[in-house]
Amino acid sequence: MSSTFPQDFSSVYGPVASWRYGRSLGIDPIGAVSTCSFDCVYCQLGEIEDKTRDRRIFVSTSRILRDLQAFAVDGVDVISLSGSGEPTLALNLGEIVAAIKADTGKPVVVLTNASLLGDAGVRQELALADCVAAKVDAVGDERLRRVDRPVDGIGFAEIRRGLLSFRREYRGRLAVQTMLLGRWPDREQADYIAFINELAPDEIQLCAPTRPRPLVHELAARGGRPGERPVYAVRHLKAVPPQVLHEFAARLQRETRVPVRGPRTWGSRGTAAECDDSSA
Ligand code: SF4
Repeated sequence: MSSTFPQDFSSVYGPVASWRYGRSLGIDPIGAVSTCSFDCVYCQLGEIEDKTRDRRIFVSTSRILRDLQAFAVDGVDVISLSGSGEPTLALNLGEIVAAIKADTGKPVVVLTNASLLGDAGVRQELALADCVAAKVDAVGDERLRRVDRPVDGIGFAEIRRGLLSFRREYRGRLAVQTMLLGRWPDREQADYIAFINELAPDEIQLCAPTRPRPLVHELAARGGRPGERPVYAVRHLKAVPPQVLHEFAARLQRETRVPVRGPRTWGSRGTAAECDDSSA
């Protein structure tokens, strides 16, 4: 059963200018209460209100299609599913992706934290998307717990297995999105590179947090336009020196065959649109 929503809630927002995918119209399959299997320290949604790994229908597919009617999709490059939490928690994920593709004819991108990819049903639904950006902020449990703060029962071994299975099955474009909060020790960088070489994604999206973290959940934090300043209370995260990102990117380029991309303003306080991957 889907939830009730505040009167002004729309499951569609934007479009936002994404450094990764161009002009992107956002779909929020989660709804007004932020819900995720992670509670990342840098999450643009603030502290996650409902921390869970249980899938359910949050926003009905018909409601999403109805909200979509108010938006012109001409001039939009992609439709992205992320919004107020982890989109693979939506039990109607596959139905939403298929319906949006049929309705708009636009490529669909899903931004996921990859924590549910151990579930074959989730992988099957996610595989309907044209592009998937999967979060890999850690290659071990210690950093995963410190940065992504998953709910109990989610560890890196499970995420790794799920991602490798998804890579074998998926015919679309798979990106790994990694948020750096500082320089990783050499050993961890080597472990990450080994995992990337095993996974063989189509690209790595390397980023550092530039969006301020809201103190409480605000629907307005789902998207953002260039130059737009938040109108809600926020906490700024410590900036990562651009050199840290450049050095890691250079090593990745030397030791993997995977292209590395990052926003224009690596490591500086850019606008929201320059680093749009806080959510999932
Ligand atoms: S950044 Fe994404 S994965 Fe992390 S808590 Fe926020 S919605 Fe969840």
